Amino acid sequence: MIAVQGFEGLKVGVLGLGRSGLATCAALKAGGAEVCAWDDSPEGRAKAEAEGFTPVDLTRQTAMENLAALITSPGIPHLYPAPHPVIAAALAAGVPVDNDISLFFRALADSDEAPKVICVTGSNGKSTTTALIAHLLAEAGREVRMAGNIGTGVLSIDLPDEEGVVVLELSSYQTDLARHLAPDVAVFTNLSPDHLDRHGGMGGYFAAKRRLFTEGAPSRAVIGVDETEGQYLAMQLAEGPDDSRVIRISSGQKLQGQGWSVFARKGFLSEWRNGRQVASIDLRPIAGLPGAHNHQNACAAYAAVRALGLAPRIIEGGLASFQGLPHRSQLIGERDGVKFVNDSKATNVDSAAKALQAFPKVRWIAGGLGKDGGIAALAPHLGSVTKAYMIGHSARDFALQLGQTPHEICETMERAVARAAEEAEPGEVVLLAPAAASFDQYPNFEKRGDHFAALVQDLLKG
Ligand code: ADP
Repeated sequence: MIAVQGFEGLKVGVLGLGRSGLATCAALKAGGAEVCAWDDSPEGRAKAEAEGFTPVDLTRQTAMENLAALITSPGIPHLYPAPHPVIAAALAAGVPVDNDISLFFRALADSDEAPKVICVTGSNGKSTTTALIAHLLAEAGREVRMAGNIGTGVLSIDLPDEEGVVVLELSSYQTDLARHLAPDVAVFTNLSPDHLDRHGGMGGYFAAKRRLFTEGAPSRAVIGVDETEGQYLAMQLAEGPDDSRVIRISSGQKLQGQGWSVFARKGFLSEWRNGRQVASIDLRPIAGLPGAHNHQNACAAYAAVRALGLAPRIIEGGLASFQGLPHRSQLIGERDGVKFVNDSKATNVDSAAKALQAFPKVRWIAGGLGKDGGIAALAPHLGSVTKAYMIGHSARDFALQLGQTPHEICETMERAVARAAEEAEPGEVVLLAPAAASFDQYPNFEKRGDHFAALVQDLLKG
């Protein structure tokens, strides 16, 4: 755990008592702060009590008096569509509102032997890129800690020594709010519309992510330039096209200009510097990184660890041994030439499109709690789908948007897996990529993916 200094004897509010909120309470207490912990849900408060924190009702009128800061969780709206009432009270009283990521960077600034910090943000591929960076560093013998949006509260880690590296996955909510950001290397994977209600639209969403670079002033920035926003950010951070503070990455474009770049085309990753190719790696045989979207993640991770000085050959070995993360293009097994792949994390249309494009012939299991517009935007990406098996609340709505693509309404995962497996031909992939949230049938996307995996395992045993 990291003890947060600077609040000795002062009252600090902690709003939201999930994993990162509880870690924040402990870290503040260890530094001598008086923690006022609050969560709107009785379960959250009970968890805090179990860890020795007496809840303090931050919703009462006088709660902001003498509060040195209010630390909030990423799931709680701090501005749009409207600030949570406790945050609104802090804003009105002028109490600084901040988050655990910021406290982490404050703590690091006070340390004489700080490790390097790599931060990853972007719309898709953050977790995969973060986990891949951590894997590459660990394979190269570096001491690594991975935290942030990927699931471990950053204040609950123990800092590695100066030679070590902390890899943080940061959501737009986290980069938007943090008052202190100081990564050594910052990564921007890509941008597509998401969480727009929390950012007042696309401009606010991009601005939230951009803070990691403009406020954070990293010594190296790895920027995906496959969207205009990425190109804009790269332009803004560099003195010119050959400024090696920026490493441009792409999946699909040849970036062979004067600067420093890493791109993937036709399954090969290339690194170029000052108009010359420095390294080339065949990504096609790597089972843990299928598809152009994962090749983009590979480029981002490669560039981030190159920025810390790892050699291309060492990175190549690390890429080859990466197993992928559960629920993201995860190969569960194979029977009679049919692969079964779990991409339960494909909860939106963009990530489902990427998953569909990663395989040439797909038996596609989709549906759940659909988002606005359903799967209409997937129409151009259905070429690889031999048949769709629709589940969950949106099964019928999605089926109506499939056009000529053959489909069957299965309702349940059990039936969808059984039917897809029965009909699949050698060379095809049975792919769970729901393009919908899971909450109609499961507590979360992990449970949905676990269910798919368990059904497939049973099938493979039988
Ligand atoms: P995040 O942490 O940003 O949500 P993940 O690595 O967890 O990203 O992947 C989320 C979903 O997006 C998965 O369905 C995955 O297959 C898909 N995905 C992964 N990388 C990319 C990428 N670079 N571009 C688009 N989609 C991606």
